[in-house]
Amino acid sequence: MPISPASSAFPTGTILGYPRIGRRRELKKAVEAFWSGAMSAGELETVAAGLRQATRDRLVDLGFGRTDSSIPESFSYYDQVLDTIVAVGAIPTRFAELVAADGTLDLTGYFTLARGEGENLPLEMTKWFDSNYHYLVPEIGPETVFSLASDRIVREFVEAKAAGFLTRPQLVGPVTFLLLSKASDEAPAGFSPLSRLNDLLPVYAALLTRLADAGAEWVQLDEPGLVSESIDVPRADTLAAVASAYGVLGQHRIRPGLFVAAPYGSLDDALPVLAATAVEAIGLDLVRGSVPLAVPGLAEKTLVAGVIDGHNIWRGDLAGAFEIVQSVRALSDSVSVCTSTSLLHVPHDVRDEKSLPAALVSWLAFADQKVIQVATLARGLTAGRAAIAGPLADAAAALAARSTAPGVHDGSVRARAAALTDSDFRRGNYADRLSAQDAALQLPALPTTTIGSFPQTADIRRARARFLKGTLAAQDYRNLMRAEIGRVVALQEEIGLDVIVHGEPERNDMVQYFAENLDGFAVTENGWVQSYGSRCTRPSILWGDVSRPTPITVDWSVYAQSLTAKPVKGMLTGPVTILAWSFVRDDQPLGETARQVSLALRDEIGDLEAAGIKIVQVDEPALRELLPLKKKNHADYLDWSVGSFRLATAGVADETQIHTHLCYSEFGVVIEAIRNLDADVTSIEAARSRMEVVREIEAGGFDHGIGAGIYDIHSPRVPSVEELTALLDTALESIPERQVWVNPDCGLKTRGYDETVHSLHNMLAATRVVRERRGAVVGV
Ligand code: GLN
Ligand code: ZN
Repeated sequence: MPISPASSAFPTGTILGYPRIGRRRELKKAVEAFWSGAMSAGELETVAAGLRQATRDRLVDLGFGRTDSSIPESFSYYDQVLDTIVAVGAIPTRFAELVAADGTLDLTGYFTLARGEGENLPLEMTKWFDSNYHYLVPEIGPETVFSLASDRIVREFVEAKAAGFLTRPQLVGPVTFLLLSKASDEAPAGFSPLSRLNDLLPVYAALLTRLADAGAEWVQLDEPGLVSESIDVPRADTLAAVASAYGVLGQHRIRPGLFVAAPYGSLDDALPVLAATAVEAIGLDLVRGSVPLAVPGLAEKTLVAGVIDGHNIWRGDLAGAFEIVQSVRALSDSVSVCTSTSLLHVPHDVRDEKSLPAALVSWLAFADQKVIQVATLARGLTAGRAAIAGPLADAAAALAARSTAPGVHDGSVRARAAALTDSDFRRGNYADRLSAQDAALQLPALPTTTIGSFPQTADIRRARARFLKGTLAAQDYRNLMRAEIGRVVALQEEIGLDVIVHGEPERNDMVQYFAENLDGFAVTENGWVQSYGSRCTRPSILWGDVSRPTPITVDWSVYAQSLTAKPVKGMLTGPVTILAWSFVRDDQPLGETARQVSLALRDEIGDLEAAGIKIVQVDEPALRELLPLKKKNHADYLDWSVGSFRLATAGVADETQIHTHLCYSEFGVVIEAIRNLDADVTSIEAARSRMEVVREIEAGGFDHGIGAGIYDIHSPRVPSVEELTALLDTALESIPERQVWVNPDCGLKTRGYDETVHSLHNMLAATRVVRERRGAVVGV
């Protein structure tokens, strides 16, 4: 059967998506104004349409074609997976009453899926591949009725067309959509969302027809699910789904050209499967993966070479990228240039950074600079290398300057890292440490503590803002923070906590605070990236060799310790988390960079210890998040990540107790790694999973201290004494009492004081109930 998608050639240069939050976070502000009632739905739609138009205009200014399908329609009010859920009508039954008679969902309903309402919990949120972006998890069951329930994708294409643009609609592809789904509440045990593929495909087909009718020549279907091995679906099932999905959609008669994009890694065995279908273009991530070998069918496809890294902020080796594009030409006559991923992960524009050093700016490429790079390489592809010799040489010169710039290589930092030996990564044996710590700390059974931060009040934030603006003197700022520490310490004594924290009032953010105080980092003014929904983060830039000019946290911790006879726990952010939540230099392996951060932290821990701090917690909430998508890369990652934690913490005496905190409850894949961290006490998230995690720990034979969080701080709810007692009892069913610590799930920074105080009182009451019942002796 002849297929005649109404497509002209695929554009020679394109991107997989553009940041949608706005250069000054306009979308965030508008969406939050809508949530608070300060903006109407119509006004919000007007702001959004304005942002979409600004993006199209900007991409044309930067060198993209107006009518060649190079501009992706990658806008979303909240999340692209949520958009797909809504487009295919997969609304969970608990939200059924939000759906109008004609099957559509208004903006309020859309946001309700993301944010929940009353008893109806929001869709679960989880990390998007190995990025810092979080998507909403579809819930699919036998009861899900798929139907084309939203034409927003079509409308946005039509909106662009009316403005004189021929853009490329974009949505999550059907296989990835189902791979990322979880079974709905109604689904029977063992149900696999992927089993609904054949019911979902007609909706995609119908949408393709609508887009073709509207005049779309190409559509982009994102299929990153195909590159990941971390998904709990047998690979053979995934490959069969690819064959079936693109078999069906490829044969669909009235449709735009199909561009299937596979960011975040190499397609591996999914490539021949895809190449055997009738899709017209395949997007390859050639930053993470390498140029594939020829497979049957590939020569007939347009190969969209993702050579510009969409996931980092470096200007990089443009000539090298061009070479890779050239080598792809051996596989097909039709080759295009692209980013490796959507530009969602990078800020808008380096030119918005007025206070970064000029040299650093010349090494960077944010979204707009990456678009220019793509356009440049695309020009080279059509006009020949000579046509772009100038920009290639400029990029090479910047790269060369970077490699020799002061601060990028610091001789003393390197010498120190090179001299490390195995013993620098090892503490004394655990039994000796345990008895030394018991003697030094004199803690009761089931010791109680918190994860570090206390609520960041408006007063604290205002004081910091004034201090940064220069309207509050450093000394006055310090006094205000000390006063806050005094209040927090007194509060903890009154509540009866055993291990006291200073509350972290001086920290704007647990990573940025350290970035601001270490050499080798820079902080941006407008470098926001979307984390989820309207939430944005402003990652620091780790550009040079890292060292610690002066102690960072010691004064605060020592001050807190001066106010109480109970042990104060010093609080640091671990090397892996500092890397995970920053933009990290790309000119050396991550493990090498992590070691430098570790050495700086090791000095900090040494100073804390010397100043009388007996417990130090090194938070690693991101340990799991950086785990590579391909299993073959796990061992190397776990080796350097665990090693860097050990390097940071192994310099202390036996009696100094090292804690760590991890922010997730799926221990499974990293349990071995957590054991290898060799922290004396590990606190984890457990309340949401009703302590499921403690059973995994028991199964893993973990014998160090463990604080299974019993108070879920992700909700303003105050847990009752009975509920907390039951959770603690559950923990004690699996873990010997001598190992168990009592603490909340995570830091209290985002909570209000009332609920926090009430919840902590209940946590202590529950601990007393359990201690008494078990006849535990208070004081060892
Ligand atoms: N110590 C940090 C805090 O309490 C830990 C935060 C985190 O785990 N993300 O805020
Ligand atoms: Zn946490």
